[in-house]
Amino acid sequence: MPVEKVDTLIIGGGQAGLAMSEHLSKQGVPHLVVERQRIAERWRSERWDSLVANGPAWHDRFPGMTFAGIDPGSFATKDAIVAYFEAYAAQIAAPIRCGVEVKALSRKRDGAGFTVETSQGVIEASNVVAATGPFQRPIIPAIVPAGAAVVQIHSAAYRNPDELPTGAVLVVGAGSSGAQIADELLRAGREVYLSVGPHDRPPRRYRGKDFVWWLGALGQWDAKAAAPGIEHVTIAVSGAHGGHTVDFRRLAARGMTLLGRAESFTDGTVRFAPDLARNIARGDANYLSVLDAADAYVAKNGLDLPEEPEARELEPDPDCVTSPLLELDLARAGIASIIWATGYALDFGWMKLDAFDEKGRPLHQRGVSSEPGLYFLGLAWLSRRASPFIWGVWHDAEYLAGHIAARGSIRKGAQKRLNPANPPAALCQA
Ligand SMILES: Cc1cc2nc3c(=O)[nH]c(=O)nc-3n(C[C@H](O)[C@H](O)[C@H](O)COP(=O)(O)OP(=O)(O)OC[C@H]3O[C@@H](n4cnc5c(N)ncnc54)[C@H](O)[C@@H]3O)c2cc1C
Repeated sequence: MPVEKVDTLIIGGGQAGLAMSEHLSKQGVPHLVVERQRIAERWRSERWDSLVANGPAWHDRFPGMTFAGIDPGSFATKDAIVAYFEAYAAQIAAPIRCGVEVKALSRKRDGAGFTVETSQGVIEASNVVAATGPFQRPIIPAIVPAGAAVVQIHSAAYRNPDELPTGAVLVVGAGSSGAQIADELLRAGREVYLSVGPHDRPPRRYRGKDFVWWLGALGQWDAKAAAPGIEHVTIAVSGAHGGHTVDFRRLAARGMTLLGRAESFTDGTVRFAPDLARNIARGDANYLSVLDAADAYVAKNGLDLPEEPEARELEPDPDCVTSPLLELDLARAGIASIIWATGYALDFGWMKLDAFDEKGRPLHQRGVSSEPGLYFLGLAWLSRRASPFIWGVWHDAEYLAGHIAARGSIRKGAQKRLNPANPPAALCQA
């Protein structure tokens, strides 16, 4: 089979791959995007039916295009997000090839560039950008064995209440996915148990501004790293039903049973840590800290934003928080399904490269890998808090495209010195 050669290969046709393509085009860098399925595939087949964006349409987008037919203050549905990225790919004329899966990536034998084995043959590239997502492999903690008499799925496989077996549901994990899915099940008339771990739960809106606006004003989108000692924070936010602050007390008041962190399972019974009140208090502290920071910002900058003292009124803890259940007999509670909203891991097992630490995490600086010519895009905290999100990935892609373009001209310059007769296009493949 003939080997195809490209200067820069982008792996993944989600928002990160498209942003990368746009910026490489602007820099005049020849490139190809390969996507194993379709543009924005995860939004199509790895999200539940009713999902809407967590941020309003004015914010969760690229600078070069607004959402058509959506009020900027509302939250785009997942179908609208797919349509948006399809339209965006057309607008930037992204050179994208769908249905091509990268199976393996290794250094070329001569060390200059990469050999990429795909489902459609071999590609050689001087540069490779891995844009395969921040959320690659769903994680289900090994708590309830697969053989237990209950249906278990990850939130990535949840679609809607009707697809679950009749009966009560245990949702484990109360970040944005778990909180929204539990709420949807409750609205559908299910009996719902929600296992709540440590989390942040910022206000959806405060003093007339959305939370994403406050993150910008307070400089938090640009935070370079999570707080020391905290690698990952579970954040419970929701754009569903017009957007509202996730409030676990209100969910309990509507009939949901809150539980602490799920810990173990024996004889049909799940056991929970005695940490529910602490986790709820931590979420409250985060919520109030955003209000404090916002108030301080308003005062310092003399802004005319309406005061909102009622936002500080928290309801008393419900019984399920003050006297929490520490164990739950699934059969007795009528629980027919468990939804694990417990996050994702990275999976770069297909890269045969020395570019990872002992935990399999990419070694990089702002996405520039320790392996020359290899780049990562779209990962959590790649350069800052905004990195894995629609708005943030576009800016990281701009930086990487500059790096790739500069590297290309250095390569060309070096090669010219070696062999001035070589045409630049051929040298780009080196
Ligand atoms: C439930 C949920 C809701 C979210 N909501 C929002 C939101 O409202 N706003 C926001 O800004 N962010 C949101 N995010 C975060 C983030 O925006 C999404 O995860 C987004 O999909 C990441 O885009 P990406 O392009 O980096 O990666 P992905 O969307 O994961 O795209 C990677 C692409 O690479 C392809 N691929 C993977 N491996 C290969 C391979 N070996 N060969 C070829 N192709 C490959 C995949 O098919 C996929 O299409 C949400 C995340 C989740 C999980």
